[in-house]
Amino acid sequence: MGDTFTEPQPTPLALLLLGHGSDPGSERGVDCPGDLPSPSDPLLVERARAAKAALGDRVFILGHHYQRQEVIDFADVTGDSFKLAQQAAAHPEAEFIVFEGVHFMAESADILTSPDQQVILPDLAAGCSMADMAAIEQVEDCWTALEAAGIADVTVPITYMNSTAAIKAFTGRHGGAVCTSSNAERSLQWAFEQGEKVLFLPDQHLGRNTAVRDLGLSLDDCVVYNPNRPGGGLTADQLRAARVILWKGHCSVHGRFTPDCVDEVRERVPGVNVIVHPECQYEVVEKADVVGSTEKIIATINAAEPGSAWAVGTELNLVKRLAMTNPDKEIVYLDRTVCFCSTMNRIDLPHLVWALESLVSGTVVNRIEVDPDTSHWARVALDRMLALPGPTPTRD
Ligand code: 13P
Ligand code: SF4
Repeated sequence: MGDTFTEPQPTPLALLLLGHGSDPGSERGVDCPGDLPSPSDPLLVERARAAKAALGDRVFILGHHYQRQEVIDFADVTGDSFKLAQQAAAHPEAEFIVFEGVHFMAESADILTSPDQQVILPDLAAGCSMADMAAIEQVEDCWTALEAAGIADVTVPITYMNSTAAIKAFTGRHGGAVCTSSNAERSLQWAFEQGEKVLFLPDQHLGRNTAVRDLGLSLDDCVVYNPNRPGGGLTADQLRAARVILWKGHCSVHGRFTPDCVDEVRERVPGVNVIVHPECQYEVVEKADVVGSTEKIIATINAAEPGSAWAVGTELNLVKRLAMTNPDKEIVYLDRTVCFCSTMNRIDLPHLVWALESLVSGTVVNRIEVDPDTSHWARVALDRMLALPGPTPTRD
């Protein structure tokens, strides 16, 4: 066991402009066969309604809270990624699950549903930049580094739901579990009951916030593994000393909020409460009044006193909806520069109409199908998460 490490081979993470070229290994650069309705078609709402009615119980539509209002209007259930994973598993009667969300969520739905159910993502360009920050080859290289440091057999991988099926399968194969922002604390506690160290993938911020704020570890207990540097940029001694090895990934939406945003909004809106998602940087979360998953953010604001003011650090579609449904409260976006999740926004009404009308005419478009071996091991990791004891937790 030495401190040397072979430099990882470059991995195929080509960034393609949406709609330009194609990357068979990802969901980018794909076409929609047939006629995609025009966004200016005044009949779109009527067409979506008619197609959904024609499909009846054959279709079940899941909508993530970060989706546009125009498609959320057609969701049978809305939720954060934990609730939607549960809901996908809870509807075996639906022949088609249409996922208003992003690629990794649709993969999880496919893994959790029966083989004769088909999961559809209305726009295959709806990926996730965070999930793309951990390629399976890079994670395998990281595990090799842990083996070389002599710590792989005492390390339990925990992967955030926001990861590809291949990473979830890796986690399942190596005795680990999936977590979401709703249950990261319980997942990490569980992991420390199984082993001495945790490899947390791919969101360094959720991993750090949970380890330090919820489990009481110190910042020095955590190291950041950078997949773009030899050996992750860490020595074997650093790996051996760490309790939590954080993958260097982040959400491009939540990662934008800074401590200055919190200071600025407190000056701008007197008495404001700051509530943020745990994908935000540690320094931001430390300055906030409340931290929680999207479900927790919604529940907190809905239950807040009329007249109270809230600055919300999460995706803009959700913040706009919170402002709309809570007219008795002042709801503002935490940053002055507003920012949608561009990939969540890919699912729009024209794509939803196209997917539903295709189903009505007997054509399944944009099916998300995970291969059986990956699906098996990813399911092991997902089932470990779903079996964690206790109610769906909330964060205080
Ligand atoms: P949750 O739905 O688990 O809160 O995750 C937020 C997110 O970034 C989904 O892409
Ligand atoms: Fe990915 Fe962040 Fe968008 Fe969620 S909000 S899909 S984590 S980029």
